[in-house]
Amino acid sequence: MSVTVFSQLDRSLHEHLATLVRLASTGDDETAVDLARCELPRVVAVVKALLDEHTPDEHGRCPTCRTRWWSRRLPAPCRAYLGAQLCLTVAGDDPYDEHRRHLRSVG
Ligand SMILES: [Zn+2]
Repeated sequence: MSVTVFSQLDRSLHEHLATLVRLASTGDDETAVDLARCELPRVVAVVKALLDEHTPDEHGRCPTCRTRWWSRRLPAPCRAYLGAQLCLTVAGDDPYDEHRRHLRSVG
């Protein structure tokens, strides 16, 4: 795969994600429901697939990243795993936090 094709794929992926975020925050309720029912499961599937690749082993090391030359100097687990964990579980400043906390306490 050439660099050009790859960067094009990368750009369209980011554009797709940006569209999802924009629709979720500015779309009407029907759009939001559609997003939650159709797009959210796909995004969750992607996150889970990525996390599967980066789940720490019994020593807390990432099986995917440890093959790289810099892996010995990295704190474990890897940044991909930590980043996803922080993004999804740590409350930020956005106005939906109350709602998300509620969702988590229910689920
Ligand atoms: Zn990793």
